[in-house]
Amino acid sequence: MHVCVYCGSSKLVEQRYLDVAADLGARLAQAGHVLVWGAGTVGLMGEVARAVHANAGKVIGVIPEAMISEEVAYKDCDEMVVTQTMRERKAIMDERSDAFIALPGGFGTLEELSEVITHRLLDFHNKPILILNTDGFYDPLLELFEHFVEHKFAKQKHMETFGVVNHPADAIAFLDGNRHVS
Ligand code: AMP
Repeated sequence: MHVCVYCGSSKLVEQRYLDVAADLGARLAQAGHVLVWGAGTVGLMGEVARAVHANAGKVIGVIPEAMISEEVAYKDCDEMVVTQTMRERKAIMDERSDAFIALPGGFGTLEELSEVITHRLLDFHNKPILILNTDGFYDPLLELFEHFVEHKFAKQKHMETFGVVNHPADAIAFLDGNRHVS
């Protein structure tokens, strides 16, 4: 399975967040999954990719041309897809992936997660989406989603379009359970 991982690029985060990215990357590779991600070397983005490679897995990086010259681009991708815009990048990450996992992250991660959920609500795809809620990191976001439902801006059934797990091992089990979804 090609698994898209959205995650934070900040270098300033606590070690436990970097560790969970490395743990997920190792488990993805060990389970034979291919990582599709934003081709960053920094923060959780770098951790997940290096861990995939350390466990003999493959990584496909999708990055806008303007970001390649920066030191943040992961040069050792097994495949690097270069796009013109951020929007094109997201579209290709989505097309090339069979499932999506959001690790802790900031605005970029939130945008990616929100878009892939919205596209599933609109039936543009039927691929599994998973929020990896490390140490309850995403509890405030999940509360916001419940707030949407409470005020009827979203339906309760919309909450079933994504899964929430606490540990990378559960994420892999979730993917295995959804192997035939897409
Ligand atoms: P953020 O959560 O704001 O750190 O943004 C991370 C997400 O946005 C990643 O999943 C990437 O796809 C994209 N992104 C943001 N910053 C970078 C960066 N420096 N290098 C590569 N991708 C990035």
